[in-house]
Amino acid sequence: MVVIIGAGISGLTCGAYLKKNGIDFTIYEKSSHPGGRVHTEANDGYLYDLGFQVFNPMYPEVKRLLSTWKLGLKRFNSGAKVFNGEKFVSIDDPRKSPGTIFKTLRPEIGTFRDRMKLYKLSKECKKMDIENLQSANQSTHDFLHGYGFSDEILDLFLFPFVRGIFLEKKLNTDASFFKFVFRMFNDGYATLPKGGMKSVPEHLEKMVGKKNIQYNYEVSKIKKDKIVFTNGAQVPADKIVLACDPEVTSEFLGQVNKVGKKSTNTYYFNSPKSFDKYLYLIPDSDKINHVAFLSDVQRKYSKSGTLVSVSSIGASSFKGATILDECKKYFGDDCKDWTFLKSFKISYALPAKFSYGSEGDQVKNIYFIGDYTQDPSVNGAMKSGRLLAEKLSR
Ligand SMILES: Cc1cc2nc3c(=O)[nH]c(=O)nc-3n(C[C@H](O)[C@H](O)[C@H](O)COP(=O)(O)OP(=O)(O)OC[C@H]3O[C@@H](n4cnc5c(N)ncnc54)[C@H](O)[C@@H]3O)c2cc1C
Repeated sequence: MVVIIGAGISGLTCGAYLKKNGIDFTIYEKSSHPGGRVHTEANDGYLYDLGFQVFNPMYPEVKRLLSTWKLGLKRFNSGAKVFNGEKFVSIDDPRKSPGTIFKTLRPEIGTFRDRMKLYKLSKECKKMDIENLQSANQSTHDFLHGYGFSDEILDLFLFPFVRGIFLEKKLNTDASFFKFVFRMFNDGYATLPKGGMKSVPEHLEKMVGKKNIQYNYEVSKIKKDKIVFTNGAQVPADKIVLACDPEVTSEFLGQVNKVGKKSTNTYYFNSPKSFDKYLYLIPDSDKINHVAFLSDVQRKYSKSGTLVSVSSIGASSFKGATILDECKKYFGDDCKDWTFLKSFKISYALPAKFSYGSEGDQVKNIYFIGDYTQDPSVNGAMKSGRLLAEKLSR
């Protein structure tokens, strides 16, 4: 019997493949629901994702396993709206929005040369072997800086856009992961499911089968052949898969956790006014990085008015009123009637370090998986789960 600890995306994916391969397994999860870091709270007519997240149906692991049509996905516009010091201007991808071709020839941000460089970069990324990513041994910051973009397009668009994905300001994240993400945004698009981001793990939960998951079981100790829970229960296990976060995994393995964490805070507001379906980037704020009008993209996110999500990078959190004052600097009168709803502090959003293909076993019959063993994304978490399931099925 295989025992998987953790019903996050990696543990669920591992279970889904084990089930397909006819291997017996049980997943034990400490909380009462699937998804780990991918979760949505449905409250007062709103769908609050725990931190701003988007789903890309073109991820290779998603295409391999999920039936994305079941998720009722709605797309953001490609590109972004960027605050240029005076107003928001859009940066569009003319291949996805042909009507914007003239703007590309005379862009409001950056130069025509920047657009050609973006095109060149997308062609280079298209040639990447996305099934076998390797570290580039170069930071995303240094890669982008060395690519020859103008300071304007870097500071107003590329840096804030990537900061919002990597949740770090210095962009030390490996350039190989940046190229993968850039490729995914070119091949696919950012979407929101009709039931909120939690629909993704719920879809996986159906594939795994609810009877194969035990919720509200927190593992306190693992031994070679058995697992001990905080409620005192014990179960035998031939093979143990640690699909919990790296901190807990290191504890169980008696090791020092070297992965680290990246944090974010998301503040939700209601707006009586609708906005465009872009991601709005705020390059020069020390409090907020990006804003999205979720229910203008996916109507189901709000019963009335627009659900606005405002995100900051790092652990510092602020009062809703402080964030609203900050938004007023950029949205002016457009946000005068916003009302603060709720905020979420996500102390562990992404692993600070990750290494491709590091899932596996360090102790006989005890294996570990998770996004930090590939790259910090839904795709990375799914890939680690699939690769281990394939190994256990041999
Ligand atoms: C705010 C935010 C934004 C993000 N944005 C995106 C995005 O736009 N696109 C993208 O691709 N990815 C995004 N990600 C990353 C993506 O969500 C993660 O990479 C992925 O969900 C990680 O899954 P996992 O299985 O590795 O880990 P986790 O989700 O952390 O799962 C670990 C599970 O183990 C359980 N567990 C821990 N300890 C125990 C124990 N002792 N006993 C039993 N169970 C235990 C936990 O409760 C949890 O369910 C984002 C993440 C966050 C938080």
